[in-house]
Amino acid sequence: MKINVRLVALALVVAGIFACAQKNNKTAPLPEPVNGKVLIADIYLDANDVCPLCMRYAQVCLIEGNGQAGFSDALTEAFTQKSYGIVKGKISKTGKPDPETVKLYAQLAKKMGAKYLVMPVLYCWSERRGTALSSSQPARVGFHIHIYDPETSKEIWGGDFNEEQEPLSENILDVQTFISRGGKWVTAQELAKEGVMKLIDKFQKAQEKSAADTGN
Ligand SMILES: [Zn+2]
Repeated sequence: MKINVRLVALALVVAGIFACAQKNNKTAPLPEPVNGKVLIADIYLDANDVCPLCMRYAQVCLIEGNGQAGFSDALTEAFTQKSYGIVKGKISKTGKPDPETVKLYAQLAKKMGAKYLVMPVLYCWSERRGTALSSSQPARVGFHIHIYDPETSKEIWGGDFNEEQEPLSENILDVQTFISRGGKWVTAQELAKEGVMKLIDKFQKAQEKSAADTGN
């Protein structure tokens, strides 16, 4: 019986790969930034076990060379796809983010007309080894995203994404996720983008809930 389940799963994966190959590769037009503008702060690379913004535990791994650039692209792509406009800006203060960092960024975000300030902390970035169809080591990423109100510098929401794309042999039940990723081994950047989009969904749900609770 177990073999049958595996065979069915394998057939689904193969079907997924073919379905993906047949997909039209035309890039869709970018969505309108109807959700307002976000200022995404410089990514802080964290080598410690504790996030400097929320003091929560973070499961660090070695951040590989392209981590910062890859995560930056993943953030931009995910927020754009979720209908936010992106504004870029830097402050002169560098290093470990603290309340002063948040305040300076919030002031800048306000000046630039951003509705939200996004502070990203990256603590794990391990690239996929091998190809999309055959990987000896899947990608793994871990990060926190903290979102602030530029008006008040107060945190509105914070979330954590920490995931490794699991080898199929270890979790046959995850075949659906594998297929949803086009039946392939994703890169760290693709995994990170998926993670940021998941966190944006959670953030938006929390916003809707708090609006409903306060009757706004
Ligand atoms: Zn944090």
